[in-house]
Amino acid sequence: DAKHEKRFKTRSVNGTMAIAERVAEILMPTPRLVILRGEMGAGKTTLVKGIAAALGAADPEEVTSPTFTLVHEYQGTKVKIYHLDLYRLETERELATLGIEEMIAEPDALVLVEWGEKFPRVVEMANGEVAMENLGGDERLMVIGVK
Ligand code: ADP
Ligand code: MG
Repeated sequence: DAKHEKRFKTRSVNGTMAIAERVAEILMPTPRLVILRGEMGAGKTTLVKGIAAALGAADPEEVTSPTFTLVHEYQGTKVKIYHLDLYRLETERELATLGIEEMIAEPDALVLVEWGEKFPRVVEMANGEVAMENLGGDERLMVIGVK
């Protein structure tokens, strides 16, 4: 039920980082909660590195996986990026403590959530999705859907 959908194929980490600029353009300027879908190693965190760089929020090497910390924040020139990874999160109660509602209520926030599809609450709040697929080797497919 995405209003529009865009597909990109990349053949390297640098390709994904470069495409991230286009992905950021599609996801902005409307602040959104975007679920980043895809198996481990699909390239979700790599895409966030590229988006953070494109939005002037962080250098790629500063962006690390929030697998254990759950939430990382990066202030960009126009928007603040919240990068979440819910892989290790198990309950709705833990989810509530993260304050995702408050994040999306901020006027200039872009909330990027890895493993957000685990929680119906997060799926409800999402207005965008990037589905990433490992096509083998260094090839990755990205399908971007925006509501
Ligand atoms: P995820 O967050 O989905 O688990 P990561 O971004 O942490 O994925 O890891 C992606 C892995 O795949 C990295 O080891 C990266 O070097 C590798 N990789 C190979 N080709 C690509 C590509 N085209 N785009 C993104 N990552 C790639
Ligand atoms: Mg990741």
